Amino acid sequence: MMKSTIILLFVIQFSIIFILFPTTSAHFYPNISSIPKSLIPNKTSWDAFHHLLGCHAGEKVDGLGKLKQYFQRFGYIDNTSVLNFSDDFDDYLESALKTYQKNFNLNTTGELDEPTLQHIIRPRCGNPDIVNGTTSMNSGKVADTNSTHIHTVAHYSFFPGQPRWPEGRTELTYAFSPRSPVGDAVRTVFSRAFERWSEVIPLNFSETASYATADIKIGVFSGDHGDGEPFDGVLGTLAHAFSPPSGILHLDGDENWVIDGDFLNAPSLTSAVDLESVAVHEIGHLLGLGHSSVQDSIMYPSIPSATRKVELTNDDIQGIQVLYGSNPNYNGSSPTLTPSNERDISGSQRSTVFWNHTTLLIVGFLLLLL
Ligand SMILES: [Zn+2]
Ligand SMILES: [Zn+2]
Repeated sequence: MMKSTIILLFVIQFSIIFILFPTTSAHFYPNISSIPKSLIPNKTSWDAFHHLLGCHAGEKVDGLGKLKQYFQRFGYIDNTSVLNFSDDFDDYLESALKTYQKNFNLNTTGELDEPTLQHIIRPRCGNPDIVNGTTSMNSGKVADTNSTHIHTVAHYSFFPGQPRWPEGRTELTYAFSPRSPVGDAVRTVFSRAFERWSEVIPLNFSETASYATADIKIGVFSGDHGDGEPFDGVLGTLAHAFSPPSGILHLDGDENWVIDGDFLNAPSLTSAVDLESVAVHEIGHLLGLGHSSVQDSIMYPSIPSATRKVELTNDDIQGIQVLYGSNPNYNGSSPTLTPSNERDISGSQRSTVFWNHTTLLIVGFLLLLL
């Protein structure tokens, strides 16, 4: 084959990739005061839900259909049970709301009261809390009726089938997508975030320059970015990650990501997201954890803006050690949670992303062979 033809095919291959998925210039800021005022929006993705305050069963209010979409997205309404998202406050919505309230430790009123709405509009992880109706967070646990003892029940969860990285693997590599290049400051944050998990389990993580062969692929993308899970602009969903061993972690490129995590002097209306807090959470998914109902845990689904939460809690540690065992050097406090008989599983397995990426590689390879 002529050399010039090969070069031409390379150009075509990369053109296809970049036309389909253009590069993203993400917003990373060293600290909160370096975010330009013009980038702090008045409205965010879910602010419209505010006017649903006080809604309850039997009512019909504009916007309830959108709320049903929200609940469907995070697994509270089955994909098949509601085909038409009307603005009626029907049984599906009431049931979804009660399950959501249980998962977020709220009073199960079945109404859109203030505390519930505050939780609904909070920025959160894009991974669902319940997958295909087969997993649950708190809502699937049997309530502890023993009132004479205070039991702390483990609330961590796993993906369906409890997938993990293969036994025997002690080293995993990660790389940043060439479509969304990041600087040293972001690399340092991720290195620290991975370290928090490797301190408690026998797995080490190292960065590689080879994105194609890395076990874990990290990208920063805006809106629809080709995996069927589009991002939604400022706040709303912040990031998502896929179950092992897919190794895909995406951050929403429209967020104002803050590197230093010092929010002490943050203005009250700040749409700033602490990069390390979200990185630690999403790495938890990459390793096999689903969402937890323990509010302080890393694997809790939501985090208010301008908040830093990077320390693994006992719930996170106990959950990840069920999958991988303990790092022999870990001498932190041993988990003291009461084992739950029913380890429920939560999160999502999105094998479609694997096929999207694989298809691209195959197409590229075939072009080269021509
Ligand atoms: Zn999550
Ligand atoms: Zn994605």
